[in-house]
Amino acid sequence: MRESILSLDEKKLLNIPLVDKPFRAKQIIKSIYKNRIFDFASMTDMPKSLREYLTTNFTILNIKPIKKLESTDGTIKFLFKLTDDNYVESVYLKDKNNRITFCISTQSGCRMGCKFCKTGEMGLKKNLDFTEILSQILYLAQIMDEDQTVVDTAFNIVFMGMGEPLDNFENVTKSIKILNLKDFFDIKESRITISTSGLLDKIPLLYENFPSIKLAVSLITANQKKREEIMPIAKKFTIQQIFDILIKCYQKYQNRITLEYVLIKGFNMSDDDIKDLEIFNNKAFHLNLIPLNHNDNKIQRPEEKEIKLFQQKLENKGFTVTRRYRRGDDIKADCGQLYWDNTKDL
Ligand code: SF4
Repeated sequence: MRESILSLDEKKLLNIPLVDKPFRAKQIIKSIYKNRIFDFASMTDMPKSLREYLTTNFTILNIKPIKKLESTDGTIKFLFKLTDDNYVESVYLKDKNNRITFCISTQSGCRMGCKFCKTGEMGLKKNLDFTEILSQILYLAQIMDEDQTVVDTAFNIVFMGMGEPLDNFENVTKSIKILNLKDFFDIKESRITISTSGLLDKIPLLYENFPSIKLAVSLITANQKKREEIMPIAKKFTIQQIFDILIKCYQKYQNRITLEYVLIKGFNMSDDDIKDLEIFNNKAFHLNLIPLNHNDNKIQRPEEKEIKLFQQKLENKGFTVTRRYRRGDDIKADCGQLYWDNTKDL
């Protein structure tokens, strides 16, 4: 099988026969990352012999789009097939000011088993290689280039698609390093969000590498017993440990942390739940309320009036709170809805 050329950095590109000068390596990088050309034959500023050599020996993107769903709100979800026949989904999000965010998967499936998330039902199929992560970003960047409504092409990336990013630490951090490089994507760390279920052992290392990155931790409840019921990871890392590690990171990097709080009817929205949350009522944290997207017979989304009342009570207590509004709900592109079984009706 041909290797993806995305796995080669500038130095390694120079080892390719016919890439005889540094400017040739730069030309390849520019064609792929800046001009979003994904077939070597179209890189007409390079000699034909080199284009032919690259076509024979390398691929560029190593994911294949097989399904595209467009929401009435402008969100687009893509299902990609990987070379090993696994699947991932990625989402192209546009806000009301036409600013673009890519929601990227880091694993096919996930082994964390959070009960409010469809991806968790899949179990882990595989960790994505960093080239498969970059391929999703490049593909969505090309969609953005073709989108006439986009005025600002500086996009944001949220690693909130399928998978627990910190469970695939090496590939995720490798892809972030490439995102940062000037000749590649040139994306600032502060435009990248890592969303984790709380793999605390990896968080200090993440900040050491990327001190300005945005971190979002799925807290869901600040009650230890309840968290254990709904998130298996809670048995490994307690609420107190989450607080201790996050507050230390905040003190060191002064980078505010988002706590994701999925609102589940009758589970985490009482006055006692607000009392449990008090430990996080601190300028280090920002609470993001996410009304449950994935209803089933066990857990339900709360009514609108319950959501508003809960938010109001938190604000009255002095919490910094925002609410995440639904995006792409009609195409199951919202948080916690990505699921390989979407291939069923292909
Ligand atoms: S919420 Fe995230 S970590 Fe939990 S099962 Fe879903 S994808 Fe995995």
